[in-house]
Amino acid sequence: MAALKNTRSLKTLSVLRPNYGSQVTIRRNLNLQEYHSKDLLRKHQVTVQDFRILDDSLNPKALSGFRANEYVVKAQILAGGRGKGHFDNGFKGGVHLTKNPNEIVDLAKNMIGHKLITKQTPKDGIKVDKVMVAESVTIKRETYLSILMERSYNGAALVASPAGGMDIEAVAEETPHLLKTVPIDIYEGVTDKIANEVAEFLEFKGALKKKCADEIKKLWDLFLKVDATQLEINPLVETDDGRVVAVDAKINFDDNAQFRQKDIFALDDVSETDPREREAASYNLVYIDMDGSIGCMVNGAGLAMATMDLINLNGGRPANFLDLGGGVGESQVSAALKILESDPKVKTVFVNVFAAFFRNCQLCNGCQRYRGGVQEKSS
Ligand code: GDP
Ligand code: MG
Repeated sequence: MAALKNTRSLKTLSVLRPNYGSQVTIRRNLNLQEYHSKDLLRKHQVTVQDFRILDDSLNPKALSGFRANEYVVKAQILAGGRGKGHFDNGFKGGVHLTKNPNEIVDLAKNMIGHKLITKQTPKDGIKVDKVMVAESVTIKRETYLSILMERSYNGAALVASPAGGMDIEAVAEETPHLLKTVPIDIYEGVTDKIANEVAEFLEFKGALKKKCADEIKKLWDLFLKVDATQLEINPLVETDDGRVVAVDAKINFDDNAQFRQKDIFALDDVSETDPREREAASYNLVYIDMDGSIGCMVNGAGLAMATMDLINLNGGRPANFLDLGGGVGESQVSAALKILESDPKVKTVFVNVFAAFFRNCQLCNGCQRYRGGVQEKSS
């Protein structure tokens, strides 16, 4: 099946599953910028570094009174791999350390307004609007910890590795003995026993083991309270002064919980979302942009996936995933067609919908024009 763009918002942790080729995840579970995720961690007493945010005004006042021996300056985009990334202006690295406070704004200037390209971004990168300036920690060791909802366990699981700071899929493939997965009973939660075992597997020793176990339990509390589907700390570090600190954070939230997590969903940063995806969402359509030339209009997620597979099997490339859903009305069908028509890469439109849907649809000639076939684009 064809790979999707915008991987950070869509990527699910695949270390727990056999590799069936690239998979499409149609749920758009909310994903927040690192600084918003860290705010949530801090509110739940998870140990994070103190930080400030610089925006495109690059106003140094945002940093007034903020003092540290060393600073870490981090581009904020909804994608990982920033440290090893590069910018479209040639500047290398989306994560920089400096001891000189006067250098911070210059570093930020090289990032803000420029596109950062990483292994997880589309190939032309994502524009950086904000930069996090945090007090740097001196890292002794980097470990990996995540909590996620995992279908194969019918519930939550904890994934841990003492080999943190790296691509966890690579760890799973090359050194699987360095990866531990623990299913979590949603009613029992992360018990002291589980937290201690995981801290030990992460190679925290002595007093640090207890500190790590406490952090794991606080992360579990947060996971439950905010209706997360995935909470990934990579790296969870051991510092030279004997602390356990969450240095990076990625949280995805269950979209079905939006009604009770209004404050969190209000933080949604749509600036990185494809405008067509935004438009579709305003009509309650599930639309995901892809890189092929055949526009798809389908009702039902399963049928949409099968349709994309069929197109791929027959040598075509879908330009999008579009699920009209069940009870769509005329305005939504019309909006969907307009979205497809507005996409310059769409050369043809493939309509694959249930007949019952057509009987109810009053769209002018639309049913006749588009019924079950590939329609040449008029413009
Ligand atoms: P990512 O590349 O997008 O995953 O961003 P991270 O926040 O994980 O940072 C990448 C890497 O930069 C980490 O794995 C660390 O090695 C390093 N790094 C991040 N923050 C700090 C810090 O405060 N101090 C030091 N010494 N290194 C850091
Ligand atoms: Mg990271």
